Amino acid sequence: MKLKYRLSLLFLVVIAVSATITLVLVRRSTESMFRTLVFSGDAEKAAAYALLLGEYRLEKGDWNEVQAFLVELPGLYSRMIDTRIHGGTGWPTLDGYPATTLRSLMADRVVVADANGFIVADTAGQILRTIHPSAHLMHGIPILAGFERTGTVLVGSMVDSSLTGIDERFLNSVFASLAWSTAVATAVALALGLLIAARITNPLQRLARAAKAVAAGEGAAPVQVRGHDELADLSIAFNEMTSELRRLDAAKKRVIADAAHELRTPVTLIQGTVEGMIDGIFPLDKDTLASVHEETVRLSRLIDTLRELEIIESGELRLSIEGVDLGEAIRKAIALFASSAAAKSIALAAGPSPSPRALARGDCLRIGEVIYNLMSNAIKYTPDNGAVRIAELPPADGRTGFRVDDSGPGIPPEERERIFERFYRIDKSRSTESGGRGLGLAIASEIVKAHGGGITAGASALGGASFTVTLPVFRP
Ligand code: ADP
Repeated sequence: MKLKYRLSLLFLVVIAVSATITLVLVRRSTESMFRTLVFSGDAEKAAAYALLLGEYRLEKGDWNEVQAFLVELPGLYSRMIDTRIHGGTGWPTLDGYPATTLRSLMADRVVVADANGFIVADTAGQILRTIHPSAHLMHGIPILAGFERTGTVLVGSMVDSSLTGIDERFLNSVFASLAWSTAVATAVALALGLLIAARITNPLQRLARAAKAVAAGEGAAPVQVRGHDELADLSIAFNEMTSELRRLDAAKKRVIADAAHELRTPVTLIQGTVEGMIDGIFPLDKDTLASVHEETVRLSRLIDTLRELEIIESGELRLSIEGVDLGEAIRKAIALFASSAAAKSIALAAGPSPSPRALARGDCLRIGEVIYNLMSNAIKYTPDNGAVRIAELPPADGRTGFRVDDSGPGIPPEERERIFERFYRIDKSRSTESGGRGLGLAIASEIVKAHGGGITAGASALGGASFTVTLPVFRP
């Protein structure tokens, strides 16, 4: 079942259950309050009887004689009133009550049930010694002897607590309108629930359609982002994901095209030379074969580099992690590049040693490779009589690192991220001329990333490019 309908059904169940509970509770309390209202006159009398009967029960200890007591009560009262009127012994509570009122009070039918609902007195004698229906007893007034409930007394209309026709109709019409309003409220709530469910599920459907389009290989258009809730966050994340996918897809296509192009050149050269040798255009001698060999070596180096990149990127690269002394690595690099720098009259120098210092957490050989790539670029792109400097950085926030500066042409700000992509060269003719294939920085960047570090390009105080590498500090 669709989420939209499942949600609506859920709304309906919740609403129906709560409406039914409300209906039942309101019905019960309305009925009981209405009965109290209708029986209130008799209930007041019953309360007076309950007090009297409580006293009676305390004194007698049982209900055995209660029927006779109640039947005789009006006579008893009459006699007392007569005595009072004729100046008898006195009955203080009767002060101010006309005798007729008391007599009419005595004329009511009184029913007493014991604690088990067994009728022990009925002044009308109709239901004596029967079990009274508990529904009627429920509306009676409890008789307390001390703190113990010893029975229930019902007076007049309370004995048969069924309502009169008009009362019954009134109650029924109240219940009918209650039921109607519950039904209407449920219907309105269901309609609202459908609307809300649609609002929740529509963005999800849009996302599902877009995800299917991506899965089918179609370039998905960004999905609309509405509001600021979790669904909006999901749409934003989806859009970011598709744009990243598009970028990666474009990068992949470019890499394949570039790789094909790079491989094409030496292959064409080899093919041309070999065909020339077959056709007798080139002599079949050692020199020609040596040039073919040179191209195959270049080809195999290119393939090795691509393979290396692939290994690092796929996380298959095994790093033998240790504490790397960057100062030591820098000294080695200076020694290694001394002659090529001297050949171009480039002033090659190491920056001052920072204080404090920290070992970097990494693979010594791989970090050496990063330094090698950056240094060879610096010397390669720096013109004669320029300067190249490499310096260790002081540790900060659990990271240490180094920086390579040169006085070469520098890297324009808009190219500073792209130069780390494979085959990316700022000035292709300049780079190819110097033998570059746009893979050195890509490899350096992947190695640094595999170490959990970072690499950035910027402008150098020497006037050229500045490459900063950060690596985690080694904690033994
Ligand atoms: P390449 O083998 O072509 O040097 P890299 O990946 O090492 O490839 O560098 C990518 C591009 O970045 C280079 O083609 C060059 O345009 C630019 N670049 C790298 N290092 C420097 C530098 N020190 N100064 C100026 N440009 C540089």
